[in-house]
Amino acid sequence: MAEEVLMRMENVSRTFVMGEIRVEALKDTCLDLLKGELVVILGPSGSGKSTLLNIIGGLDLPSSGDVFFGGKNLSHADDEDLTDFRRNEIGFVFQFYNLISDLTARENVELAANLVERPIPVEQIMSDVGLGERMDHFPSQLSGGEQQRVAIARAAAKNPRLLLCDEPTGALDFQTGQMILSLLSRINQERGSTVVIVTHNTAISAMARRVIRMSSGRVVEVSYNPSPLPPERIEW
Ligand code: ADP
Ligand code: MG
Repeated sequence: MAEEVLMRMENVSRTFVMGEIRVEALKDTCLDLLKGELVVILGPSGSGKSTLLNIIGGLDLPSSGDVFFGGKNLSHADDEDLTDFRRNEIGFVFQFYNLISDLTARENVELAANLVERPIPVEQIMSDVGLGERMDHFPSQLSGGEQQRVAIARAAAKNPRLLLCDEPTGALDFQTGQMILSLLSRINQERGSTVVIVTHNTAISAMARRVIRMSSGRVVEVSYNPSPLPPERIEW
């Protein structure tokens, strides 16, 4: 089957200016994301991974360059188009979960599901992530791994075309992290969402068919892995 490009980035740069200081967080990046792929963006701390992911997800705009998605150039999109893009196409998962603490797990997921026309039913997605029994707990009553599963349910409930995960296992122990990666892999396979996992952990790249390696704000290598490992077989 031909590989279909979901997003194309051309010569994307992002410079942060703070007074006299300029940080070139992302330099002249060209990159395709393919429909339905699971891709890992790998690089050390400070290499520009989050900057890149935030631009992919429409949380931030490039200083220069183009980001094409579904016939639109997001780098020139107005606020309304960008909001629509984030609402309908993007699910975001963060290292520290970013759940709303005074809403239950179910309510956190509902909030996101209600943004889109055809969400996955909340009960179904909660049971998919293994939290069918704990839906009415508040985040503080859940373990880190459970909170991350709620965050994944929240992102996946929108059935987004892009599921973006910024260091999703960064705050978790090895076994819990592995379970989170299995869940992301399952969502990729079952729902066909393009899943992008950002990590500094080299071991995790073994689960991806494509690995985008970053260093000092640049994509330095895109490698193809003909036989990705199931997350259950990854160790770190
Ligand atoms: P990574 O996610 O790989 O750790 P980041 O994308 O967060 O890297 O950061 C890349 C570089 O850009 C770092 O030097 C960081 O300090 C800088 N940076 C990131 N976000 C901002 C910001 N909002 N303002 C200023 N500098 C930033
Ligand atoms: Mg980061």
